[in-house]
Amino acid sequence: MKRGRLRFVWVVFALIGAGLSVRAPAEPPPEPVKIAYEIRVVPTERSAHVTMEVVQQRGGLERVHFDFDPTRFSAFEGPGVEVTTAAERDEAGVANLDWAVPKQGGSLRFVALLDTLRGQAAYDARCTRSWALFRGSDVLPPIRTSRRSGVRAEGSVRFRLPSDWRVVTPFVRKGAMRFDLDQPGRGVETPRGWMLAGEIDVVSEPIAGVQVAVAAPQQHDARPQDRVALLRWALPELVKILDRPPERLLVVSAEDPMWRGGLSGPGSLYLHAERPLIDDDGTSPLLHELMHVAMRASSGPKGDWIVEGLAEYYSIELLARSGTISPERAEATRAALAKRGATAETLLVPHAKGAVTARAVTTLATLDRRIRKVTEGRASLDDVVRAVASDPERLSLDRFREHVAQVAGQPLDAFFDSQVD
Ligand SMILES: [Zn+2]
Repeated sequence: MKRGRLRFVWVVFALIGAGLSVRAPAEPPPEPVKIAYEIRVVPTERSAHVTMEVVQQRGGLERVHFDFDPTRFSAFEGPGVEVTTAAERDEAGVANLDWAVPKQGGSLRFVALLDTLRGQAAYDARCTRSWALFRGSDVLPPIRTSRRSGVRAEGSVRFRLPSDWRVVTPFVRKGAMRFDLDQPGRGVETPRGWMLAGEIDVVSEPIAGVQVAVAAPQQHDARPQDRVALLRWALPELVKILDRPPERLLVVSAEDPMWRGGLSGPGSLYLHAERPLIDDDGTSPLLHELMHVAMRASSGPKGDWIVEGLAEYYSIELLARSGTISPERAEATRAALAKRGATAETLLVPHAKGAVTARAVTTLATLDRRIRKVTEGRASLDDVVRAVASDPERLSLDRFREHVAQVAGQPLDAFFDSQVD
């Protein structure tokens, strides 16, 4: 009643007040919410004890929700926490957590098993007596939240580790064990990307404006100096292409039984210690993963060949443009990939690898020539990569065609209809 009358008064003011400086009472600014994550690594348990402490006064962050694998996450504790198990949901292997965050803030605690098998005998996250290598998703599943309008939650991480252990992350270092997450585009900051803790060796230096750190457990033969050397040649070429290069890049490695491949994450990548700088087929596993980090792209419908193809195509481009390999060797690499790719019947597979990625490289090289031709040399595939890297959406084939049309100044339908199937 009272509020209705007040609103009426404001309307009258607004009607008669043209030219007068009459303003409605300002909305209070959204509450600044902070989340302090603590990650305590316990090697004897091969696990991390995780705390997510929400610091707020006015209930800006209302709910936190995530699905989790109950064999990896357990012992949830905290006021307002409700866990639904797989049996209750009648869904194999998945449980979920719903946390009604107290208005005045509070803490959620749980235990995350770090060791994660990928295949029969290889790990893509691992905790040993002297080191632990894992991603953000190994210590906190992807979360969904409800927040009051305009509320953003900034996050920081503090590690508690055995004595003599150090830690490297893709975040902004604030102390030996403290980091700010610094994820400006995200409503709620969470630990994402690769982290390595333990008795480790780290080589770090700025390269072309990117703060680079290359790290591995001590005694692992990961040749961090070689990797920094390759990045010193190739990274400046990548930075020239992008509008917004990553501010930091963390490269982590370890020997067996870690998985013998490469995996990228936000601001960071993992590469098995024995992967060479340049593979026998002339591509570079390190630069392939670097392209994934730079493009920040995950694939949407019919888009995986593009995500993998661009990473592979530019792993050769960066080697060639930086003079690390000769133009002739780059051409020989592309020719070998064209031969291998000829056996791929379709590009449109859910997970591109091997022959499909090889064929994608050839297709993208053709696309590059087509773009240069129709724009009389004013644009190239580089401009498409720049657009993809700035686009937060998943990279579907349709989205890619839009980027190409924008760069080329016309839709290249004839190219896509004849080359992409
Ligand atoms: Zn890849």
